[in-house]
Amino acid sequence: MKLRPYQEELVRKIKLSMVRGHRHIVAVLGCGGGKSVIQAAIAKSATDKGNRVLFLVHRRELCDQIERTFTTMGVNMALCQIGMVQTVTRRIAKIPEPAVILQDEAHHALSRTYRRIYDAFCGAYLLGFTATPQRMNEGGLGDVFDDLIESVSTEWLIQNHYLSPYEYYGVTLADTKGLHTRHGDYVKEELAELMEQHVIYGDTVKNWKRYADGKQTIVYCASIAASKETAAAFRSIGVQAVHLDGATPKRERERAVQAFRDGTIRVICNVDLFGEGFDVPDCEAVVLLRPTKSLTLHIQQSMRSMRFKPGKTAIILDHVGNYLRHGLPDDKREWTLKTKKRKTKNEIRVRTCPNCYAVLRATATKCPQCGAELKQAQTEQDQKVKDMLLQKISRQPYDSYHKCQTWDQLELFRKAKKYKFAWSLHKAVELQIPIPSKYMYMLYRMGMRA
Ligand SMILES: [Zn+2]
Repeated sequence: MKLRPYQEELVRKIKLSMVRGHRHIVAVLGCGGGKSVIQAAIAKSATDKGNRVLFLVHRRELCDQIERTFTTMGVNMALCQIGMVQTVTRRIAKIPEPAVILQDEAHHALSRTYRRIYDAFCGAYLLGFTATPQRMNEGGLGDVFDDLIESVSTEWLIQNHYLSPYEYYGVTLADTKGLHTRHGDYVKEELAELMEQHVIYGDTVKNWKRYADGKQTIVYCASIAASKETAAAFRSIGVQAVHLDGATPKRERERAVQAFRDGTIRVICNVDLFGEGFDVPDCEAVVLLRPTKSLTLHIQQSMRSMRFKPGKTAIILDHVGNYLRHGLPDDKREWTLKTKKRKTKNEIRVRTCPNCYAVLRATATKCPQCGAELKQAQTEQDQKVKDMLLQKISRQPYDSYHKCQTWDQLELFRKAKKYKFAWSLHKAVELQIPIPSKYMYMLYRMGMRA
């Protein structure tokens, strides 16, 4: 296994940061960027020099997987320990002091169990990896890390064929308004109730038939009951579907995953099973039925279908409006170690095609999926200018509407003066200002035009 050029570049940057005196470094790499080979390369160069490495993971399933990669990459496993966070915390006194701690899924780094380990080995370098370097509640990771290094973006990975391109459809079936938040995400019980009581499973299947028919699909659900019902709805139309959750016996789970790989099972419905890094089989489509406030979770779930395969276009079917909260998987995001005061940093700029529900960038003028022409979206900038004009007009004694030259100006003037809508129509006719065609019928109704 050889590193890709951008992966080598990231390793180089991390080493440079260490040379410059940073001890706790977090590296940001998009999902699918190949974190584990980079981690292996770093572990190898440490063990080659006789240094000890401690690799922290937070799910048991990941240990075997990482050990395989590390062995293949030539890491001296006599000097490298891969451990679950909980286990390591319990045995901390018996573990020889490492020179380097590698931390997978570093967005968890602020939790107490992790910090206990860092504190115990305060002489070690700490190198964290994540696609989303922030806490659930938008907090930065600056309490633990002193340098943040970014690698290539998700957009770049798609353009350079390391990830598959995708189509994202937003057909909202559940309204999350009114749900409460606990520990940074929606309250589980409320979510379960919403998804079990108000979502019609048949609609999920219908939309899947429309957008992702026949594709190997993973469905993310909010509760076990909802997941079972969804799987049943798929089976009722003859699609091979299973439900899996954390309590499914390992053997059964492995059998299902193998059948999914072989294509005898088409759809896997699950609850938080493939959350972080679990070795999920390749899939072509994901269905999002679990509303989340966590950007990390949103990215992990929606990008699960994007592992590269020549000719593949991943389908993301979002029924719960996660794109409205977090945007598209490859949106440009600005990361910082600081805690954000306001949430305005990474603004969501998406729009939905009224014809086919494809989720597109706000700047799109034509839907690439169905070809529909889209009206120019009102950008935030336009709105700001309008708001400013409105304020300006309302503050000054603006007594002459004769200065208005366009319909928009007339409307702003009218709103500032709190006149009725008909006023604008009258004045537009008087000043010979073109009126938007959608209001023409009103003119006729008012008998103002022959
Ligand atoms: Zn469209």
